[in-house]
Amino acid sequence: MKRILVTGGAGFIGSHLCERLLNEGNEVICLDNYFTGSKENVVHLLDNPYFELVRHDVTEPYMVEVDEIYNLACPASPVHYQYNPIKTIKTSVMGAINMLGLAKRVHAKILQASTSEVYGDPAVHPQPETYWGNVNPIGQRSCYDEGKRCAETLFMDYHIQNEVKIKIIRIFNTYGPNMNPNDGRVVSNFIVQALKGEDITIFGDGNQTRSFQYVDDLVEGMIRMMNSRDGFWGPVNIGNPVEFTMLELAEQVIKLTQSKSKIIHLPLPQDDPTQRKPVIELANKELDGWEPKIALEEGLIKTIAYFEQVLIKKGELKK
Ligand code: NAD
Ligand code: UDP
Repeated sequence: MKRILVTGGAGFIGSHLCERLLNEGNEVICLDNYFTGSKENVVHLLDNPYFELVRHDVTEPYMVEVDEIYNLACPASPVHYQYNPIKTIKTSVMGAINMLGLAKRVHAKILQASTSEVYGDPAVHPQPETYWGNVNPIGQRSCYDEGKRCAETLFMDYHIQNEVKIKIIRIFNTYGPNMNPNDGRVVSNFIVQALKGEDITIFGDGNQTRSFQYVDDLVEGMIRMMNSRDGFWGPVNIGNPVEFTMLELAEQVIKLTQSKSKIIHLPLPQDDPTQRKPVIELANKELDGWEPKIALEEGLIKTIAYFEQVLIKKGELKK
């Protein structure tokens, strides 16, 4: 039995990861400050004696004897990470320093949840891991993008200087149950708007693209990466390479929810990337043939069913 620390474990991805790690017979410590995550996401795990929930902020040091660390703590939605940009960059940078220091001290292996945002508004399409990116260092998204880039640097330096066993994954847009209805990211926004019959808010003309990955495919990739061979440290892209425009996504959501919502256009936020699609050959080669299994339509159906339940429970939708 391994003892595993998951920072940001009460968030959207972290909650799925904690559940999967427990189901595989591990002991899991879920650490979170509940900025964007919630106890609701993990309350069903509290009966398990091998699960512990800790309220803590990764910008402060934390000491615990563990075998592995998954470092996910960081708000991921532009709305939330721009709310307090200084705190966001502190979370990425000081969080990485604190968790790497812990990994060094207790000889734990540590995985960093990095992001496709390290490629910025990419001039190379699709994006391989060898692309260094096109990132504005002083824009609205910089607190997140540059924080995550600096965290990657720290991971590599702790590895080279202190021989810490690291694993870096670059996650592309991921969606699924346990996203917060007020998260602000596009999939949750469109589904909640469609279910409530509100206008679907497309930012800009809607021709910008993203490649959407269902959360189960990501969790599989994360665990395979943690267990991958010594000498393969990443970074490795984990994402679904099927690309959609935001207009296509809106149309799919309207169709699947049978909604009467209308599409409206709002201004495009600053530095919004125009295109994004991962090259996943490296993950496929190094992670035992890993590739996404869940197509957008199938994943959207599951996610819509989740949001329906949440909105009914909140009294915002009739049965
Ligand atoms: P999320 O906002 O649901 O989860 C982040 C979690 O971290 C939350 O539970 C939050 O409360 C916690 N947290 C934030 N700041 C903290 C701090 N200072 N100390 C302790 N906990 C803190 O977002 P998510 O989508 O689950 O993202 C998880 C990780 O994956 C993030 O690091 C994010 O950057 C990365 N990622 C996600 C995506 C995606 O599409 N979902 C894409 C790329 C990278
Ligand atoms: N977006 C949109 N309407 C929304 C929320 C987002 O059109 O209500 C767009 C956003 O401008 C971006 C894309 O959807 O082009 C993905 O946005 P998200 O915030 O989900 O993630 P990120 O920009 O970080 O990929």
